[in-house]
Order: sequence, then structure tokens, then C-alpha cells
Amino acid sequence: MSTLRFHAIKETFNRPVIDVQEPARRSDIFGKNVFNDAAMRQYLTKDSFRSVQDAVTNGSKIDRSVADHISTGMKEWAISKGATHYTHWFQPLTGTTAEKHDAFFETTEDGAIEKFGGGQLVQQEPDASSFPNGGIRNTFEARGYTAWDPTSPAFIFGTTLCIPTVFVSYTGEALDNKTPLLRALQSIDKAATDVAKYFDKNVTKINPTLGWEQEYFLIDKALAKSRPDINLTGRTLLGHASAKGQQLDDHYFGSIPKRALDYMRDLETECMLLGIPVKTRHNEVAPNQFELAPIFEETNLAVDHNSLLMDVMSKIADRHNFKVLFHEKPFAGVNGSGKHNNWSLATNTGINLLSPGSTPMKNLQFLTFFINTIKAVNEHEELLRAAIAGASNDHRLGANEAPPAIISVFIGSQLTNVLDALEKVKNGKLSPEDKTDLKLNVVGKIPEILLDNTDRNRTSPFAFTGNKFEFRAVGSTANCAKPMTVLNAIVAKQLIEFKGQVDELIKGKKMKKDDAIFNVLREYIKDSKRIRFEGDGYGEAWEKEAKKRGLSNNKTTPSALKEQVSKKTIKLYEDLGIMSKVEIEARHEIEVEEYAMHIQIEGRVLGDIARNHVIPTAIRYQNILIENVQGLKDIYGKDFKKLASEQMRLIEEISGHIESINKDITSMIDARKKANKLDDAEKRAFEYCEQVKPYFEEIRYHCDKLELLVDDEIWPLTKYRELLFTR
Ligand code: ADP
Ligand code: MG
Repeated sequence: MSTLRFHAIKETFNRPVIDVQEPARRSDIFGKNVFNDAAMRQYLTKDSFRSVQDAVTNGSKIDRSVADHISTGMKEWAISKGATHYTHWFQPLTGTTAEKHDAFFETTEDGAIEKFGGGQLVQQEPDASSFPNGGIRNTFEARGYTAWDPTSPAFIFGTTLCIPTVFVSYTGEALDNKTPLLRALQSIDKAATDVAKYFDKNVTKINPTLGWEQEYFLIDKALAKSRPDINLTGRTLLGHASAKGQQLDDHYFGSIPKRALDYMRDLETECMLLGIPVKTRHNEVAPNQFELAPIFEETNLAVDHNSLLMDVMSKIADRHNFKVLFHEKPFAGVNGSGKHNNWSLATNTGINLLSPGSTPMKNLQFLTFFINTIKAVNEHEELLRAAIAGASNDHRLGANEAPPAIISVFIGSQLTNVLDALEKVKNGKLSPEDKTDLKLNVVGKIPEILLDNTDRNRTSPFAFTGNKFEFRAVGSTANCAKPMTVLNAIVAKQLIEFKGQVDELIKGKKMKKDDAIFNVLREYIKDSKRIRFEGDGYGEAWEKEAKKRGLSNNKTTPSALKEQVSKKTIKLYEDLGIMSKVEIEARHEIEVEEYAMHIQIEGRVLGDIARNHVIPTAIRYQNILIENVQGLKDIYGKDFKKLASEQMRLIEEISGHIESINKDITSMIDARKKANKLDDAEKRAFEYCEQVKPYFEEIRYHCDKLELLVDDEIWPLTKYRELLFTR
């Protein structure tokens, strides 16, 4: 066996048992490393505490002198917990998180102190010229700064105090994922509050909620390291399917293997300390695939928690000799990973606006937000698709894997019936009888628990699941900020439009409020019928039907991203004050650039593995065969052919594959060279997508065939069965 593979497998045999310590009650340690209300009450003056709370709920500015008080309290708290450093923690457009640690320690004239001032809390200027900026910051103005986001509490990870921040250029343009998200959340807060007031005057704030579900693979660290493709790209670029994969369905919800469970227990303890309210863990469909889900939270915090979680998961995995694979499709032939984004709207009065209620009025409120969301998705389905685009998610969307690249909304039969009935509402003012009938027989009859909205249609990318929408097409590597920015922005815009139309009917046609609401909703139901789909989202029939309905079906990232810079999108973002044209175009530039680089790296790695690992091994095996044939000839003379025929056939077959691989790699390199010459980043992305990527399948096909032919003893790459079934 090749040395790398051999040592990797040997290492897995003697894994030490890792001691996992768990508290008896998780609630005892929950949020212990978070500068939350309890910690603030202890370490801040009443006034400082109040000003943080005011900033959180009302977005008010924190005074510089108050910031000094807060930073001192925060520092004392952090030091009491063993922290030595602090960092502004932010989410640049690389999609991950960034941090630069500074010590509290400072020297003075007569010694040294621990210092952390208000200025250091509120704003920092990381030397950030190496983060993607899409041309926003010229080199002579290569300055960006991070600014404290008090709506997401500071926390301690390891020995570092982490302060969640936004990252913007000196001229104020967003350079991160958080800034547009915060602006979108502000938009929807305002828009949804205005609409919610139709039903309850006490509503003064709307918090969009997010509950993500993170899928991932756990692979033994040594085995993962033995594969150059996993190391450099996060996925396997080749590898023949294991004889046993997921066909027996014996992994899903099965008993969690002990080693994985120990990892999860350790991870969950860390999550508890960090205030990430993890709740659910289970095996997923593919072998060595798992899922983790928390209790939902306010969206900004939930997004931060997901980013933090992914970082923590990798770090804890290291301790357990695992590598976590977040890639959407690390292995061909078994399920890929996603990150469902469950989304709803919560009021300051404790109501979930997407939860049906017990009275007709509550249900009219529910229907208002429910139908407006559907309408928003209908109007902006293509932008929603763009929000989840990326080279790795392309392996799921549009590649016969859950869910399709076509965005549609599943609502279940009960609500379909309700919308069908509402569609028949009479135009104009309703008679008292009509209204009573409507309220009693349609709106009044929506059950509080929608039986068919649990999780029935797994093929839907955007499903209503009883009291929330579940956006299932989000990729497992995604930063949730992107889809959440789009979803909240489009619903905000929709609600503003809705309010305008309802008010117009009330004023112009002197309609009663609920008449007006019924009338507008009826039109929305008609307008957005095409987006509703209850059938099999994976089927070919749906692709045809969706095309007829005029829905987009952008199967690749470069084509999906186009909508991000359309006139319609620019108008949407500019109207809502979420992003300027410059910011939007910069983001697009970064994403197409990143896409091309992603495919470029994969192409290089695949070329290397195929040429420098697979082909030499195949030749070595071929030489063994040749030696064997030669030996048979020496012994049996001209009779050797009968005995050596199978070996000779193998020799030729191997040569055939080697030839194909070499030819394809040469063509792929040529295609890359051609693509690299293109100056325009978008064109380059298309070229990589259409001219370079198609070679991957071809090259892989022949390599995987060789894997089946060549002696297992000398095969250099750790095999699927070893990667997927080592427990
Ligand atoms: P399941 O889908 O497994 O039956 P749930 O419906 O309770 O379980 O929740 C699935 C996910 O949806 C969880 O991550 C949960 O936090 C999230 N979730 C539940 N209610 C809401 C809500 N109102 N807003 C956002 N996310 C929610
Ligand atoms: Mg789910």
C-alpha cells in the first residue's frame, strides 16, 4: 500500500480515547463566556447598561464617554475569565470570519497595565488591504475600519475577547456580510411594524428570526490529510464509490457512533459557554454525515452564531482527530450537505407573525404576512437563487440533488385550499354577509396546527413548515447573512408596497381596513400563483413546467449571479438603503472572481493528482502485469497467449485510460490558459464554468476506472470506503 494511505489508516487504529467533560445541567453554563445582560449588570453602571440596551433595541448611538465605561467593564469581565487578548471579529467577503488579536497588555512609564479603552471597543483599523473589496478601495485609500455592533454580544473564545463588528471602507461602503444584513433587518423592522399595526397598535418592533440547521461530514483527520483534494478543496475530486454507500438507509437517525458523539458532546459544551443554544443532533443520510441545529434566535445573532459555530466545530474536531467537511458535496454518489434557514417574523409583543392563530383577526394577520412573503419570493425568485450561488453549492442545485435550482414555494394542501378560497373574494367592498362568511369559513378555519406542513415535501427549496418558512437551498458552507439579507430585503419591499396599496384603497375608495386587505391579498394570490408548487421538485416534469411558468433555472453560479447586478436588484437595494450600486457591483465582482479561482484551484489539484499520483501508479501496476506476461512467455513459449490473455487485455485497458487522462488534462490546461487571458472577471467565470469544469467529470471517470483495476496494495489515495466508514 502506498505509504501515505498506509500510515493514515494505521493511525486511525490507535486513536486515543478523548476525555469529554460535560456539566450535569447545560443551563448552568449557558452563556458563561458571553458579555450578556447578566454580565453587564454586574460589570457596568446602570447608565452604561441602559445605553447598550437602548442601542440594541432602538439602534441609538453610544456616547464616547459611555463607551469608555463599557470597555472598562468589558475588560474587567474578560480578564476575570482568563482573557488576555481582544479582537474585532468580523465577516469579510471571503465568507468566513476574520480576527486579529491584540493584548490588553500595555507598557507605561513605571511598568505595565492591562488596558482597553472605549476607542478600541468602538472602532479599529485593521490593515485590511488583503481582504476582497471588488475594487472599492484603491490602493492609495487601502483603509477600512471595523465598528462595534452592540446588537451581537461580545464573547470569549479561548483566551480572546471577541467583539462582533461590521467592516466598512473609509468612504463608508460595506466590505462585509454583516453590514447589508443589518440594513436589511432595519428595513423589514420598519416595513413589517407598519403593517403589523393594522392588527395590533402595540407592535413597535419586528425581529426576523432565524433557526439554521447545519449539515456536515466528520472524517478521520489522518485519512482526510492523506487526500490532497480534501486538504486543498474540501472535497474529493475523484474516488470510486464504495460498495456500500447510503443505499441501506441505515445511517439516517441511526445511533450516533461513539467517537462522533464524544465530539458532539465536547462541541456542545463549548457552544453552551458561547451562548449558542444548540438543541438537536442526529445522523444524516450519508455515512459519516451529521446535523446540528439550535433554537432559533434573532437573525443577526443567529447569523453570527452560525459563523462562530463553523469555526468552533473545526477547532474542536482537531482535538478529536476529526476533520469537519462543510463542503456541499464532498463525496460523489452520496448525499451532499445543506444548511436549512428557517425564517419567521417575531413582534415585540411576543407573536410569531407566521403562526396561524385562534381567531379570524389573528389569521388575517397571519395570511397578510404569509401571502406577502410568497409574493416577494415570486417577484424576486432569481435574486433569492443568486443569494445561495457558489461553486460548491452548484453540486447540489441543478445537479439532480436536493433541491433544484428553480425556486418555488411549497405551502401544503390546507393552505392551498385557503388561498384558493381567498382568490374568489369579490372585487371591491364586501357585504357584511360576505365578510362574515369569509371570516367564519375561510380565515376562521385555518387550524392552529397545520398537519400537512411538518416536513412533507423535502424536494421544495422554500417550504412553509407550519409557523415559518424553511429556505432549504442554502449551502452548508454559506454565510447565512447572504440569503437572509435578500429574504428580509424582498419581504420588506413587498410589505411597503402592500401598505401603500391598502392605504390607497382605504383613502381613495373609502374601504374598511379588512376589505382593503382582502382585496389586495386576492390580487397577490393571483399574481404569485406560478411560484407555488406542491409536486416533486426533482422531477424533469417540473423543469419543463417551471420553464412554462417563466421561472428562472440558473444551474451555474456565473449565470445565477447575473441577477445580483440587474437593474431591478440595484433599484431594490438602493430604494431600501441596503447597498449602493458601487457596493452591489463590487460584490458581484468578488463573487465571480472567487468562482473562477475556485474552479482553477480544483482543476490544478485534479491535474496534479491524476498525473502525479494516479498515472504513475497505473503504470507501476501495468509493469507488474507486463512482467507477468513476460514470465509466462518465458515458461510456456508460444502457448503463453492463452494464459496471459486477460493480463494483456488489462495492460491495454490501462493504457487506454492513461491516454484519455493525459489528453483531457492537456486540454483542460489549455482551456485554463485561455480563460486566464480574459480581463473581464465575469467572462472568466463563465469560461471556467463552461470550458474548464466539464473536464473534471471526464478525468475523474478514467481515474475511478483505474482505481477498480489497479492492485489495492499500491493505490495511493485513501478510498471512499475508508473515508466514509471509519468510525
Ligand atoms: P423539525 O423541523 O425538526 O420538526 P422544528 O420545526 O421545531 O423542528 O424546527 C426546525 C428548525 O426551525 C430549528 O432550527 C428551529 O430553531 C427553527 N425554528 C422553529 N421555529 C422558528 C421560528 N419561529 N423562526 C425561525 N426558526 C424557527
Ligand atoms: Mg429542516
